[in-house]
Amino acid sequence: MQSSVGGCKMSLGLLFNGLLVSIIAALLWEYSKLREHAAVLQEKLHMPQKSQDFTQDPMDYHIALQTLHEDGTRMVCSSKMHTDRICRFDYLCYCTEGDEFVFFHSNSSFMLPNLGSRRFQPSLLDMSSVEDHNTQFFNFLELPTAALKFLSKPVFVPDVTFIFNRFNPDNIMHVFHDDILPAFYTMKLYLDLDEKARLVFMEGWSEGPHFDLYKLLSSRQPLLKDHLKDFGKLICFIKSYVGVSKMTTWYQYGFVQPQGPKANILVSGTEIRQFSKAFMVKMNITRIEEADKDADNGEDESKKDEYIVLFTRLTTRLILNEGELITALAQEFQMKVFKVSLEEQSFSTIVQLLSDASMLVSMHGAQLITSIFLPRGAVVVELFPFAINPEQYSPYKTLATLPDMDLHYFSWRNIKKENSVAHPDRSWEQGGIAHLENEEQERILASKEVSKHLCCRNPEWLFRIYQDTLIDIPSLLGVLKEGMKSRLRFKKSKHTSKIHPGRVREPQCQTSVQSTDKAQLIISWKIPWNLKYLKVKEVKYEVWIQEQGENTYMPYILQQQNFTFSENIKPFTTYMVWVRCIFNNNLLGPFAEVLVCRT
Ligand code: UDP
Repeated sequence: MQSSVGGCKMSLGLLFNGLLVSIIAALLWEYSKLREHAAVLQEKLHMPQKSQDFTQDPMDYHIALQTLHEDGTRMVCSSKMHTDRICRFDYLCYCTEGDEFVFFHSNSSFMLPNLGSRRFQPSLLDMSSVEDHNTQFFNFLELPTAALKFLSKPVFVPDVTFIFNRFNPDNIMHVFHDDILPAFYTMKLYLDLDEKARLVFMEGWSEGPHFDLYKLLSSRQPLLKDHLKDFGKLICFIKSYVGVSKMTTWYQYGFVQPQGPKANILVSGTEIRQFSKAFMVKMNITRIEEADKDADNGEDESKKDEYIVLFTRLTTRLILNEGELITALAQEFQMKVFKVSLEEQSFSTIVQLLSDASMLVSMHGAQLITSIFLPRGAVVVELFPFAINPEQYSPYKTLATLPDMDLHYFSWRNIKKENSVAHPDRSWEQGGIAHLENEEQERILASKEVSKHLCCRNPEWLFRIYQDTLIDIPSLLGVLKEGMKSRLRFKKSKHTSKIHPGRVREPQCQTSVQSTDKAQLIISWKIPWNLKYLKVKEVKYEVWIQEQGENTYMPYILQQQNFTFSENIKPFTTYMVWVRCIFNNNLLGPFAEVLVCRT
């Protein structure tokens, strides 16, 4: 590590050498080339030509430098746990040669949480939304501000900067689930991470095929780690946030246990759909509002413009009888079928199409993340190659079945080995198994289902998931018809509110003793304060009664706001009573403060 910081320890002599070399180069090289390079850099940051005096005002540079010297770095973070932490910094620096962030200590610095060496156990925070992954840990080196005089002149980044790692920018599912959705909501959390925020991706990858989507997060060009060294050896972010929220992620990829839905999902379809709506605006896509469509023009009328989207892949995990499938879908449902692929259509064309589709049919794969753009009530049908159990690979099922996502998810799996074409001779990444021992190859070939496994290189899983499939049309149509039926039921059922009741108010308890073995509890309360503003189909109340000292309680469901309990109520006994309101059978309110009733 020391040698890495050493990289930033540029003496002034070296700096002048560098300058001399560049002056000579400028004379010798084609002038236009240098200008072009400068223009590209400038474009990247939207910064003035000499990036070190970022406002072109030497005074501002001077002030920034003075502030760094005097105040050093300051940090304040959220959360006690490194896996939930996002940190805000003033004057966090990054040494490009050493590939290290630097925290400069001055008499005015602060660092909250101040963890001492615990900040290395295992890290201060996760740089990506993938939890506790050791390739994603963030930390910084510490230096006194006095060391600044030995380092290269810092370049200041004036924008509020949002620094995190993309997890797998080549894969469209990862792009949305791990990066864009988390970034979108992190930017909602911190007010100054606005339209003008500068995103900096530190994972070290190149732009990747979906960079245009990342660009939609802010009006400024995002920077890659690789870009930073074009600006200098020591980059100081005047204000920055490091880390990204995990609140919106719903899936874990199987690093410590087989892949599956996250244990504690905190996002609902509402937030996913608000994101999709905002993102479509950024893509200049307008969706026909569901409300407009529902202005009921009768079933047949509306069916005319319903359509199915078949999302295909052109290189791997192919559907071998696409033509036959398209004809069968069109005939069965009397709807148009559009075939799309990431290779052939632009992303915005696909989103536009999906935003009004009735059904999306696709092989398992990253392209299914585009279900976030489907309208409410649409059907998602995910196809699985032979020997893959759909239940064990469920990122898209989990997404589609999030509360309030309002999608109808169905899976279909190929159970006929003869309808499957495998590729044992491909590279291991694409499911090849030729590199394995013969015995292992035979075991894989004979197996009828891949058993649960960890990420990410299980050869049997890769072999099976990269098979091409001849779809058995009648068996698939069976699944699709179920899907369409469920869609129809959904259409008929009216949307119900998702608003929860408040506490019941002024709960009261009166008691009376009838005889030596008979007593009564008269419990009453007022409606929750928000009820008078709502149209609720069904309002009920739940009352729990517990005798003091007992472990169990008696639950009651009531329609009215008072009740006289006499069953099992004993004289001269203390009871604890809790009351709460329930809307439409499943929307629970909080319990009011406990009543202590003595008979
Ligand atoms: N991909 C594609 N067509 C193909 C194969 C892959 O568009 O024929 C895309 C796929 O949607 C994903 C990326 O390439 O965005 C990587 O695909 P891979 O098969 O590695 O991942 P998976 O789809 O299984 O998540």
